[in-house]
Amino acid sequence: MDKRFCLDLNLNDIKDWCAEKSFPSYRADQLFKWLSTGVICLDDMTNIPKDMRASLSEDFIFDEGMKIEHEFVSQIDGTVKLVFRMYDGHIIETVIMRYKQGLSICISSQAGCKMGCTFCASAHAGFGRNLTGGEMLGQVLLSQKRMNERIRSVVVMGIGEPFDNYDNLMRFIELVTCEEGNNLGSRHITVSTCGLVPKMKEFTALKSQVNLSVSLHAPNDELRKQLMPIANKYSLDELIKACDEYIKATNRRITFEYSLFDGVNDGPESARELYRLLRGLHCHVNLIAANEFPGSPYKRSRKEHIEAFRSSLERYKINATLRREMGTDIMAACGQLRRGLEQ
Ligand code: SF4
Repeated sequence: MDKRFCLDLNLNDIKDWCAEKSFPSYRADQLFKWLSTGVICLDDMTNIPKDMRASLSEDFIFDEGMKIEHEFVSQIDGTVKLVFRMYDGHIIETVIMRYKQGLSICISSQAGCKMGCTFCASAHAGFGRNLTGGEMLGQVLLSQKRMNERIRSVVVMGIGEPFDNYDNLMRFIELVTCEEGNNLGSRHITVSTCGLVPKMKEFTALKSQVNLSVSLHAPNDELRKQLMPIANKYSLDELIKACDEYIKATNRRITFEYSLFDGVNDGPESARELYRLLRGLHCHVNLIAANEFPGSPYKRSRKEHIEAFRSSLERYKINATLRREMGTDIMAACGQLRRGLEQ
């Protein structure tokens, strides 16, 4: 993108631009206020003079940068999935869920993913490009505007591997937590990685209050390599060490995501191995009844196996819960829409 997307600008960037173009600095505050409330169409910014709007549109991308192309609302629990089309035709998905504490959003960090997890629809649809920090922020701000309600927590767990787009992820965190802007507390953000160990270490060194979640999905290297090619690069030993470093440096608990696949990783031996791997770590295991999609080689684990797995972990004193399924009627196509909609 030659021109920057408007939501990639922070208040200082806008102030600098105003100074350069000889617009008074209070215009920067006005523009930033519009952007922070999810108004990215210049025509809607009624207090910004016409000449400034014309000048802005020459230098930056506004609402043509990302538009809501489709919207799906679950008839079961009201979960909303928004499908955005970006300025260059790429498609990304965002999911908004309602919990007791308020709205939570799951955002994408890339259009597609390079990681190639064999159970994932996004991997099957291929990689498009990295999203900018502003495009990640846009998912939050435009969703807030669409829902007419503030979003209380953000998980970076949608399409893409956030640590494979590290600098843009950091910019997103800076933008979404900015006090003059959206002002979300770091503790209300969770980043989920498939286990890019060097980036996990870089993230740990920041000692931020952002939560870390690791997609584990297997209790041994052999099985993990089948499910997640990244396991060929970083062993479970290295991964767990990096997790331990994060816990010690931040004093925060880590979450492990574990999707259960029928006959693959859901038996009593897997539960035992998982216990041996995680014992002593300050962690929580999020068990997921895996999503099936056409062409996937895996079936979701059976109910009784999921329950038995959870009880085993409980017996081993590993903190584990089964993730509540939300919006199942609109999730079936998760990650696959991209392939069908991109041209
Ligand atoms: S599970 Fe996550 S990291 Fe793996 S291919 Fe899918 S989006 Fe990428």
